[in-house]
Amino acid sequence: MTPVDTDKEFSVFDSMAARFDVAAQKLGVNDGLCKYLRTPNREIIVHIPVLMDNGRMEIFDGFRVQHSIARGPCKGGLRYGPNVTLDEIRGLAAEMTWKCAVVNIPFGGAKGGIICDPERLSQAELEKLTRRYTAEILDYIGPERDVPAPDMNTNEQTMAWIMDTYSMHVRHTVTASVTGKPLDLGGSLGRHSATGRGCMIVADQALKRFGRERQRTRVIVQGFGNVGSEAARLMHEAGYKIIGVADIHSGVLNTNGLDVPELLEYARVNKTLEDFPEAEPVGSQEILEQDCDVLVPAATENVITSRNAGRVKARILVEGANSPTTPPADAILFDRGVFVVPDILANAGGVTVSYFEWVQDRQGYFWPEGMVNERLKHIQVAAFNDVVRYGEKHNVHNRIAAYMLAIDRVALTLKLRGIYA
Ligand code: NAD
Repeated sequence: MTPVDTDKEFSVFDSMAARFDVAAQKLGVNDGLCKYLRTPNREIIVHIPVLMDNGRMEIFDGFRVQHSIARGPCKGGLRYGPNVTLDEIRGLAAEMTWKCAVVNIPFGGAKGGIICDPERLSQAELEKLTRRYTAEILDYIGPERDVPAPDMNTNEQTMAWIMDTYSMHVRHTVTASVTGKPLDLGGSLGRHSATGRGCMIVADQALKRFGRERQRTRVIVQGFGNVGSEAARLMHEAGYKIIGVADIHSGVLNTNGLDVPELLEYARVNKTLEDFPEAEPVGSQEILEQDCDVLVPAATENVITSRNAGRVKARILVEGANSPTTPPADAILFDRGVFVVPDILANAGGVTVSYFEWVQDRQGYFWPEGMVNERLKHIQVAAFNDVVRYGEKHNVHNRIAAYMLAIDRVALTLKLRGIYA
């Protein structure tokens, strides 16, 4: 195997840029436009003071990177975690631009993050942190500017605090200022399960290509948070055999199929997957190498790398997480014939239903869940077909095809708009 520059392999921005460069070159995008498309519009760094429950003051670092407003307001999640970095947020912000373009919704891309350990913060501390972060970036967000959504370690409650803080400052309630809100605050039916549902929609399309049935398809899901648990739940309901699931601490495996509703209840009550009856224990990382047909990494980035890609046994990879596969791993998977549904297509269900939520909030008129799910399916199936056709036409694998499709769409809007000087 060729030696790999590990630092570079694990930089989310470098991974994005490497794929961007290949796709842009294949499209023949000129150097100037390439520079423009690759560079974020704006990067905001804030230092957030929080008076902790014990009376001490702590300062947390937070970021919001707005990559592009070429196709509409910025859209992107907000994540909390001890290892959040500006590099990662910068890379994920650009990926949001490409993701919105792949599913052809009128948004640009952004991403936010705060370096903190949410497991060690009380609800009161999390609320103060979220509200002060919102106040610090207030001039740069809003329904026409940049609309945050949940991501790792943030949820509906986090979005409610952001919406309330924003609304207090502008002196009226602005439900469209965030998406992924609680239903009672203008959230959309179907948003909570949208990313997981999207993973199932693209998995179904991949099965169709291989003439496979759900009932004969064994699935492993890494990550049991919003995306992973909803993907597992919906795929189990639809007839797939979920044989393995893991969170950050541990995993469980049963080659006869796990009872996912029971596992969800077990995890809710015990706050762990460990010791779930009728399953073998398996490590959170080792689970990626177990025998299965469809692998859904739905936890975090850089889990499939040059070191383990050769041991992935799945034939279909559905990337629920953002950037779970590094570029050197892409090459290994491609050589081994793994059909990869890349993140910017596979997990675009979340941002698509966020778009529906934003539309509903702005209209003040809410859709039934069946309509949300139907429209999501329509958009994601069309995007899947667009990407696969693009790949066949240009003789590239799905990830580069998805990037090419996205870059083509964003570049067209930039050409039409011109450069304001
Ligand atoms: P979450 O915080 O709800 O859940 C994350 C899950 O992953 C948890 O079960 C956690 O224990 C597990 N995990 C974290 N690190 C792990 C590791 N190293 N090994 C195994 N498990 C690990 O987050 P989420 O919202 O479900 O997001 C998961 C991924 O999906 C992220 O990459 C996120 O950017 C991406 N994503 C989320 C959405 C969304 O709508 N929430 C949309 C698109 C993409």
